[in-house]
Amino acid sequence: MTAAVAPAPAPSEAPASRARIFSGIQPSGIVHLGNDLGAIRNYVRLQWEYEAIYCIVDYHALTSTHEPELLRQRTREMAASLLALGLDPEHCTLFVQSHRPEHTELAWLLATVTPVSWLERTPTYKEKREQQPHDINDGLLTYPVLQAADIVIYKASLVPVGKDQAAHLELSREIVRAFHNRYGETFPEPQAVFTEAPVVLGTDGVRKMSKSLGNTIDVFAAPEVIRKQVMSMVTDTKRILRTDPGRPEICNVCQLHRFFGPDYEEIWEGERSARTGCVDTKALLADRIIRHYAPAREKYLELIASPERVEGTLEEGADRLRPMAAETMAEVRQKMGLR
Ligand code: ADP
Repeated sequence: MTAAVAPAPAPSEAPASRARIFSGIQPSGIVHLGNDLGAIRNYVRLQWEYEAIYCIVDYHALTSTHEPELLRQRTREMAASLLALGLDPEHCTLFVQSHRPEHTELAWLLATVTPVSWLERTPTYKEKREQQPHDINDGLLTYPVLQAADIVIYKASLVPVGKDQAAHLELSREIVRAFHNRYGETFPEPQAVFTEAPVVLGTDGVRKMSKSLGNTIDVFAAPEVIRKQVMSMVTDTKRILRTDPGRPEICNVCQLHRFFGPDYEEIWEGERSARTGCVDTKALLADRIIRHYAPAREKYLELIASPERVEGTLEEGADRLRPMAAETMAEVRQKMGLR
């Protein structure tokens, strides 16, 4: 499967009537560097240029999280995180998926045009079966259908996500085409928008950074936790002695430096010439990450302390979307013979 990739459009290319973008993020506890560099940065940037809708996907989280209070808490935390990282409710709509239950009705309708074989071949389904072998629920299989519904219910044409979501996006496009073949043109075919860091590797330096793999750098963690996570990073495994030259192109620490200062090439040169060691480069990265996220962390702590503010924003977001969701559902029901 190849992903449909639209480069992140430059401000000058923004269309006169603003195209609509949509993205969803799971309320799964923490925001890590992969989430921010791979997706959330684009959420923030694109809200100024597009009609942006961002969703905390709690229905999706139910495929793995079965503790009600924990889910509620994580949903609030994710909302506070996104607001702290720069989402501005004046310029985008932020809401919780289950507050607009039309998503699940549309998912059912789309499920009737989606062959099971498409879902079974989804890489994340295979991964999840391995990660939670005692809980292979149907939600894990049909997850991409709900994801397609999330996007197309608002007729969004662009979807800012990390590259790990490329296969899901392609499946959304296939589902849209399957619907169109049976019932006629209805939705735009959504296109992925990637950042400059489409895949951020975890502290192990091999696998993508992911909560479920435990290899994250958590942007709102206390400074000492961030420092510990960064200092645990695997660097260039061929650099054994302090005097060995480093290879910044393949060193994950050096790669991350690209996002935390304009002088990264100097840092790379220090590694290449063995003027600096991996420990120095990691300590510097830790300092920079801590400094970079300090203002957002402060805002996050403030928001967490006033949950009513966050909940108000989320409710307002869901209310704002009601007419759009209702209009799409009326059209789809009519086309499918339900009215
Ligand atoms: P996780 O994989 O940690 O559970 P999510 O699935 O909630 O994270 O992902 C939320 C958003 O962050 C998605 O758009 C996803 O593509 C992006 N993302 C997650 N991990 C990475 C990563 N390591 N590199 C780039 N983008 C990522």
